[in-house]
Amino acid sequence: MRHLSCPACGSRVFFENYTCLACGAHIAFSPEASQMAALFGEGAVVACANRGQFVCNWATGDDQPLCRSCRLDSVIPNLSFAGNLERWQRIEQAKRRVVYDFMRFGLPIEARDSANPGALTFHFLSTDLAAAPVMTGHDSGLVTLDIAEADDAVREHRRTEMREPYRTLVGHFRHELAHYYFERLVLTSSDIRACRIIFGDERADYQEALQRHYQNGAPVDWRQHFISAYASAHPHEDWAETFAHFVHIAATMDTALDLGFAGELSGRIVDPYTTEDFDALIEAFLPITAKVNEINRSMGQPDMYPFVLSDEVKGKLHFIHMIVARRVRSRAAAQSVDAA
Ligand SMILES: [Zn+2]
Ligand SMILES: [Zn+2]
Ligand SMILES: [Zn+2]
Repeated sequence: MRHLSCPACGSRVFFENYTCLACGAHIAFSPEASQMAALFGEGAVVACANRGQFVCNWATGDDQPLCRSCRLDSVIPNLSFAGNLERWQRIEQAKRRVVYDFMRFGLPIEARDSANPGALTFHFLSTDLAAAPVMTGHDSGLVTLDIAEADDAVREHRRTEMREPYRTLVGHFRHELAHYYFERLVLTSSDIRACRIIFGDERADYQEALQRHYQNGAPVDWRQHFISAYASAHPHEDWAETFAHFVHIAATMDTALDLGFAGELSGRIVDPYTTEDFDALIEAFLPITAKVNEINRSMGQPDMYPFVLSDEVKGKLHFIHMIVARRVRSRAAAQSVDAA
């Protein structure tokens, strides 16, 4: 995340802020300008309709009541149940970070409508209210999230039960959107052949593969080949887990660069989301994770990045980087043709 400043007084403000803590100005994040804007006075922006309940601090445009992030929701939690407003607030906060990621990548993040039925949409469901257990997952642009994941106790219980080193709302969104971008960027392109060589054939029976994974666990040498044990379950999950890590790396490096943590490699990376220099990205990222992990241990906190990138995993990340960078280049080329 790049440094944001108050439009009124110039003090540093954070992505989640509704007001400037220095001068009290009411502020909203403008996704178009990628900067904080004022809600009152000259050049004021219009607040997203979800601001009233402290669900969203973004600005909206195009005469739409909801901002670019909230427009993606088609089912929100039932707010007549105690705790659901707080769950929804945490969910939207995490989602906005991830919508921001994909805007920075320059990847399509449009809301589903009648003209665009395959575009993205989110369902935030509760197992208490649903007829069947709610499974967090992705299906052709529809991302479902079990809102219990917004409860720290529930999520931590699931994390230890599944022996995962990392489980967060941001991580869920990055993982599920990875499935979406597999369909958008790879499945119908000629890259699918290389993708199948690297990640395996995703046409393999999914239910059977997952059942096998939950029964037998991951292969003993999974660390050599996969970023996580779950990634070894099926090629779809390997893609999604690895893609999510690519987003973790870009987002972390964006913040690190802004804070001046990237050392001598900072000159090689202007924008971690769109850089062509994959090697510099990884070379700069790894020492930062080692240092921040050590700092977290000093505080008795879990590691920020509890993962090891094997050479094979770096190769998979490099492939994903190539897919994203190519998409960014072709978009830039299309824009320059439009402008000509
Ligand atoms: Zn201010
Ligand atoms: Zn909003
Ligand atoms: Zn998945």
